[in-house]
Order: sequence, then C-alpha cells, then structure tokens
Amino acid sequence: MDGMAALATHSNPLRVAIIGSGPSGFYAAEALLRRAHIVVDMFDRLPTPFGLVRGGVAPDHPKIKQVCLVYDRIARSPGFSFLGNVTVGAEVTIEQLRAAYHAVVIACGASTDRRLGIPGEGLPGSHTATEFVGWYNGHPDYQDCRFDFAHDTAVIVGQGNVAADVARILATPVECLRTTDICESAVEVLAGSRVRDIHIIGRRGPAQAKFTSVELRELGKVPDCVALCDPDDLRLNATSLNELADPRADENKKNVEIFRTFGANAGTPTPAIRRLHFHFLQSPTRINGSSCVTSVTLVGNELSGPKFEQVAIPGSDCFSLPCGLVFRSVGYQGVRLPGVAFDERGGIIPNAKGRCLDGNKAIPGLYVTGWIKRGPSGLIGTNRADSVETVASIFEDILSLEPGPKPGANALRDALGRSPRIVSYKDWQTIDLSERQRGQQRGKPREKFTRVADMIEALDRLLQRESIASDS
Ligand code: NAP
Repeated sequence: MDGMAALATHSNPLRVAIIGSGPSGFYAAEALLRRAHIVVDMFDRLPTPFGLVRGGVAPDHPKIKQVCLVYDRIARSPGFSFLGNVTVGAEVTIEQLRAAYHAVVIACGASTDRRLGIPGEGLPGSHTATEFVGWYNGHPDYQDCRFDFAHDTAVIVGQGNVAADVARILATPVECLRTTDICESAVEVLAGSRVRDIHIIGRRGPAQAKFTSVELRELGKVPDCVALCDPDDLRLNATSLNELADPRADENKKNVEIFRTFGANAGTPTPAIRRLHFHFLQSPTRINGSSCVTSVTLVGNELSGPKFEQVAIPGSDCFSLPCGLVFRSVGYQGVRLPGVAFDERGGIIPNAKGRCLDGNKAIPGLYVTGWIKRGPSGLIGTNRADSVETVASIFEDILSLEPGPKPGANALRDALGRSPRIVSYKDWQTIDLSERQRGQQRGKPREKFTRVADMIEALDRLLQRESIASDS
C-alpha cells in the first residue's frame, strides 16, 4: 500500500483547503482530484470564483476567459466544494483551517501593486493599473474609484501586458467595448472620455519590453487609433543586439519588428483620432501637480550590466510630459496573509516546491501556489505546472501529514457563521445565470454584479423564486 492509499480512504478522505479560486487554485484542485478519496474545499473572499480571469482579463479578450469552462468542469468534480464570501484571515484563520484539514494550499495571488516610490504618486489623477482594471471589470473592491477622462493626455508607466490592456481600453472606441462584458457603469464613463494621446513609458529599450508579441501587435490594430514610436529609438545598441541574438529572445525579436511598424507610422499622415506613443529608456522621477496631476517628469536611462538593467544617464536631461492622468502599471505585489511567514521584498510566501517555509523549515500541511508562490509572472497556463508541482509535494509528504480523519468545513461552523452568507458553487451558478441574462438584455455576454450586496440579494431573490415555483 503506498502512502497515499494508507492515508486517504473512503472513510478518511484526504481533506484539502485551497485559499483562492483563481487559476492556480483551480489547477491545484484539478491535480488533487485526479486521485481517489480526496476532498477539496475552495475558499474565496468574493462570492464569485475565477480570480483574475473574472476581475483581471480584459473584457475584449473573451477567448482567454473561456478557460473558465475548464474551471467549471473541475468545480463539478465529485469531492469539490466552493465556499465563497469567506475571508481567510478574518472569518476563519489559517490555524483553524490547518486544524480542520490535512493540508492547506494558499493560492491567493498577488492582490496589490508595486509602487514607484516617487513624489506625487498619490496625487489625484495618478492611479494604479489594478484600480482601473478592477473598475472596468466590475471587481467590487474598485467600484468607488473615480477616473477623470476630461484630459486629452494619459501616461502609462510600464511596458507589460497589463499596460497593454490599460492602453487598449483607453484607446478603443467605446462602441467596440459595449458588446463585451465590461461593466456598464464603466463604459458609460469611458463614453465621455476625451483622452486622445496615450504615452506608454518603458524604463528599458524596445528589445526588453515585457509585452507578449500578440498583445503588442493588437495595439497596432485598435480602430481609429495609430501606434507610434520614434524610429531613432529603434536603433539598437550592441547590448540589445546581443540579447536578441539569443534563441530564447524570440518574443523580444518579434516585438522589435512590431515597433518598427509603429516607427514607420511616425512619418505617415493618419486620420486616426487617438494615438499610442511608445517611449523607451525613460523613468519617471516625479509626478507633478498641486491638487491633481499636471505632468510627469522623465529622466533618460541607459542599459547596463548582464541583466540589461536601466540606470539613469548621469546629467541626462529631464523632461516634463504634460498629462492629466497617470496609470502605474509596474507589476503586482503579493500581500501578507496573517499567520504565515512572508518575504516582503519578493512579495511571496517563502517556499520549497510549494511547501511553505518558516526560516528553513517546512511548515507541516501548509502549501502555496501561483503568484503568491513565485511572484506575478507568466500567463494563465503557467499556473498549471506551478500547481502540479505543489500538489506533487503534498503527495510526497503524505506520510508526514496528520493521519486521522479531519472534519473539514464541519469544524468551522462557528467561524463560518461569521460570514454574512456563504456562497456555494451552485449559488455561483445561479449568480452566473442571472449575470448572463442581464447581459443578454443588453446584447453582451454578461452584465456583472459589481457589489457583493447586489450579488447576494439577487441570489436570495432567485432562490426564493425557485423555491416558490417548486412548491406550487
Ligand atoms: P510585467 O510583465 O512584469 O511588466 C511590468 C512592467 O513595469 C515592465 O515593463 C517593467 O519594466 C516595468 N517596471 C517595473 N518597475 C518599474 C519602475 N520602478 N519604473 C518603471 N517601470 C517599471 O507585469 P504586468 O504587466 O503587471 O503583468 C503581470 C503578468 O500578467 C505578466 O506575466 C503578464 O504577461 C500577465 N498578463 C497577461 C495578459 C495576457 O496574456 N493578455 C494580460 C495581462 C497580464 P522592466 O521590464 O524593466 O522590469
């Protein structure tokens, strides 16, 4: 009998709690549920599952969202339960979960942003990309954010895929967004936008931009918009040419070719209404304004060292780029979970192949996966291999996990009673259906509920209607 069979039996299933219902959480559930006698309870602080696929993936990227069909299939597997609207760290503690389950997997992602650490970052008009993305995607945390689109110029700091999403949503004609699942309140505000010039600032060169080529190419195809860069910026130095010679730099090579097409646009007259301007080797040193943003001060950089890090050119000229809006899109940052060791600099939970560490010692029964394990990098699918590795560690450790039966959520009844309303997967399916119906009335795939209270109210109303219908 192997360790797995010895521990997990019909009468004593291996009980695993997963904290977070984004891609890494679902891939962990999938890897666990491939074996018999495993029970997975997935907790999320929101009533809705799917994490960044729901709250982060851009509304005009419906194909990427289709991965939810895979997660839905996993959620319907025997042994899986969803406990939405439960905040671990508030209603229930990590210690309570560890006592109630054989293993706990933290899959809560990286929920905040890296900061630039420059003066003026907190001025009105200076926003994080996370706020903007959460706002247009209907994430309940960001519905009170206010964006003033009465300005003609916006600056985006950072050249990764989130910056690409922000740029595309700012540049896309609102008629093209109306048929997506963007939330209605956001699209109405965007309809009044006067933003015409969008400057996308990279601290390194065109060969180091972090966009994937598909996302960058898309920025050249936004209707009524032209993508531009200075052809002089595309004269690569030896450092960049050497980097591009590496066979692993295929995406970077493609990006440089795409930037060349943007450079060629620079001298061509265009009827485009909006312009996307790419700038390279520039770092913001200050966001200026007294009561709100009026400009960004940029300083020139040069590439140096084996990692092609950017360093300010000594004595290089600063220049001030007038703008009324700034979006800081310089990467996400993990947040400490109460009761779990945390690496503040890396924004991750220290771990060895997904085993959470306290110093050099693995904490029995506590695991981690996804962005909070490795940092905010990679595409959605990257999380599958990451979660498979973590689950392999659980199976390797099986004999050292507590052998007796564990009560799971039954033992948490008092704690969970503090949640205003636990949302099961079946409840989510009711919310989902209702959102789709609201969308259908508006000619779009879904109209999301953007407030937790509205989700719960709609859910309870629909369940009551169902129960009246089944009684009669
Ligand atoms: P990212 O890819 O790490 O890009 C962050 C950008 O910010 C980089 O250009 C980085 O420059 C820059 N940056 C960092 N610190 C800075 C500073 N102090 N000053 C100026 N610039 C700074 O992060 P992300 O865009 O947030 O994306 C996170 C992950 O999600 C990525 O793996 C991304 O591919 C993925 N994602 C994918 C999609 C999609 O597939 N459609 C959509 C959204 C996000 P350096 O390169 O010099 O560090």
